[in-house]
Amino acid sequence: MKKVGIIRCQQTEDICPGTTDFITVAQGKGSFASLGEECQIVGFVSCGGCPGKRAVARAQMLVSRGAEAIAMASCMGKGMPIGFPCPHFEQICRAIRAKIGDVPLLEYTH
Ligand code: SF4
Repeated sequence: MKKVGIIRCQQTEDICPGTTDFITVAQGKGSFASLGEECQIVGFVSCGGCPGKRAVARAQMLVSRGAEAIAMASCMGKGMPIGFPCPHFEQICRAIRAKIGDVPLLEYTH
């Protein structure tokens, strides 16, 4: 059982509770299929608001709570559900990768 932490866009919290993320993890689909085993969510947090700097510490927190992979919710990179991707997405991912090292970073969920 692979433990995963998910980071989502704070700007979309009012219009999306992350339902599809939870379903996708439970079904082992989407980006989670690449992990090769069943997954369990150990944390579901927001980026902390624009410009997303707080996502870096939050990713580290998820790892310290047992996350073996971090997934960026599709609201961030794909702009779901309103077609408005995060303008800071690549920079956030780079900073998180530098922080979490070998822990896999999935750039979408579904
Ligand atoms: S930094 Fe990006 S992911 Fe975070 S609230 Fe702003 S638009 Fe959303």
